[in-house]
Amino acid sequence: MKFCSNCGAPVSRQIPPGDTVLRHVCGACGTIHYQNPKMVVGCIPESEDHILLCRRAIEPRYGLWTVPAGFMENGETTAHGAARETLEEANARVEVGALFTLYNIPHINQVYMLFRARLLDMDFGAGAESLEVRLFSEAEIPWNEIAFAAVRKTLEHYYSDRARGTFQFHLGTIEPAARAVST
Ligand SMILES: [Zn+2]
Repeated sequence: MKFCSNCGAPVSRQIPPGDTVLRHVCGACGTIHYQNPKMVVGCIPESEDHILLCRRAIEPRYGLWTVPAGFMENGETTAHGAARETLEEANARVEVGALFTLYNIPHINQVYMLFRARLLDMDFGAGAESLEVRLFSEAEIPWNEIAFAAVRKTLEHYYSDRARGTFQFHLGTIEPAARAVST
């Protein structure tokens, strides 16, 4: 951030009195521009022993598969956001159920909340942000083409819980991918 979104004057980075974190502070109007993590909400749409995945038509991770998920909007609940993203990305109507996974991703300032959900009809198809939308059995899951670590871990928990016969909530943290060491 270079300019104040309130008055347009330049901002500088400083620790406001009583705070402990560097913030963008406007030198003219004094507004402190707090930046906080973004919520990503989505779901695993289930239909009998299949789940619905979307192949991404946008960066990042163009061409890879994900559950329907996206940034939560102001004024909606997490479950409503998950259902809205599913409608936008997969043209699919779902009944959102229990929260299944929550992943902190502190290095990119995001929190993922993914729900289980029941796919209400088979009248789905690719939305503007998807190349392709289809149902997968467990054997068909494209494990090497999953877009995001939080989604891959969610699907791993999903199938291990399903094999055990009990779904439970899972909380975790995604660390940065290990960087290859060049010599
Ligand atoms: Zn200002």
